[in-house]
Amino acid sequence: MSAKVNIRQAAACLFLLTAIGCGETAPPVAEVTQSVYVDIDTMQAVVADTVMQTPAVHPVTGKRTLQPALYCPKCQQWHAIPSVEQINRKPGATRCPKTGAEMTADGPWPE
Ligand SMILES: [Zn+2]
Repeated sequence: MSAKVNIRQAAACLFLLTAIGCGETAPPVAEVTQSVYVDIDTMQAVVADTVMQTPAVHPVTGKRTLQPALYCPKCQQWHAIPSVEQINRKPGATRCPKTGAEMTADGPWPE
């Protein structure tokens, strides 16, 4: 009796392992953190690896043209901000210069 149950469990276990072992369903999670920047050459929002030093290197052109950006919910676009240091130093630096709306780092990411 108990032997039958064990075989069934073993079979279920094997099936599970096979299903997981396929490995084509789940892509590996990227370990690099990314942030949204604005390319000061084109004023386009760009997603690039998060770096401490700005301007950051544009992943396509290789030029140091990326300023950190925050999303403005009123303009519905990413605005370049001078630097993270300046945000910490200057109250109101995270507000949109046009509308005065408080900007956020969790806007919809550009493609
Ligand atoms: Zn704005």
